[in-house]
Amino acid sequence: MPELPEVETIRLSLAPHLVGHRVVEVEARRIRLREGIEPETWRERFEGVRILALERRGKYLLAHAEGAVALFHLGMSGRMVLRRPEEPRDPHTHLVLRMDHGLEVRFIDPRRFGVAVVLRPEALEGHPGLGRLGAEPLSDGMHDVLRQAASRSRAPIRSVLLDQTVLAGLGNIYANEALARAGISPLRRARAISARRIGVLAGAVRQVLEEALEAGGTTLRDGGFVNASGDAGYFSVRLLVYGREGEPCLACGAPIRRRVLTGRSVFYCPKCQR
Ligand SMILES: [Zn+2]
Repeated sequence: MPELPEVETIRLSLAPHLVGHRVVEVEARRIRLREGIEPETWRERFEGVRILALERRGKYLLAHAEGAVALFHLGMSGRMVLRRPEEPRDPHTHLVLRMDHGLEVRFIDPRRFGVAVVLRPEALEGHPGLGRLGAEPLSDGMHDVLRQAASRSRAPIRSVLLDQTVLAGLGNIYANEALARAGISPLRRARAISARRIGVLAGAVRQVLEEALEAGGTTLRDGGFVNASGDAGYFSVRLLVYGREGEPCLACGAPIRRRVLTGRSVFYCPKCQR
C-alpha cells in the first residue's frame, strides 16, 4: 500500500509532465472505486484545463487546475503512470488524461480502493477524507500532535500512528519500522508511554520517512509500488521488522514476531521493543 514517501515520489515524477500543461482529453470509465468515477464530470471540468500545481496531502494527490481540482488516492493497489498513447493499457486503467505534450497520465487500480474524483476547489474542505486529515508527519508541529494524541489514547500506539486524523500519510510499513527504531512495542497502550519516548518515536517517524523519500519509495517484495515512469525496483530503507516474521532481529538475534492488530500485521522484536 503506497504511503507518504511513495505518493510523494509519484508526485515528483509526474509534476514536470503535468504542471503548466493542458489536459487535451479525458477518458474515464464509469466505475466503482472507493469514490466512483463520473466520466461526464471529469470531461466537463478537466478537459481543456491547464494544471497549475500538483500537491500532496497525506496520501492524497491534488492536481489543481483552473476552476477544478482532481483528487487521487491510490488505495491498496493504485498506480499513476505516464505512458505514450501507443503503449498497451493495463486492463485496470480507469482514467486517462492525455496531455498537450502527447503523453498520457493513467490511473490504474486493480483492487479499486482508490479515489479519482474531480471537484470544485471550494468543495475540497468538505471532502470526507481530505477534510479530516491530521498533521503532515514531516512538519514542524508533528511532535506535539503525536504527543497529545498518544496521551489521550487507550489504543495500542501502532493504531495512533495509523490514524490519519492524527498524522496524515503514515501507513503500516513505516509505522512498524519507526516503532522498531524507537524500541517501542507496537502493542503498548499509547498513553502508557512516556513523553520522552514519544519524542524518540516522533524522531524515528521523521527519519524513516526521510530515508524512504530520499531513495524514492520502498518497493515491496511483491513489486507493488511503481513510480510514475514505471521504474519498479529501487529499494530504500532497510526494513528492521516489516515482513520479517521468524527472521532474527538485526540488533539482538531474537526471532521477529508478527501479530494481527485491527486486521493488519504488526511486526516487532519482543526483546528490543517494550
Ligand atoms: Zn531485538
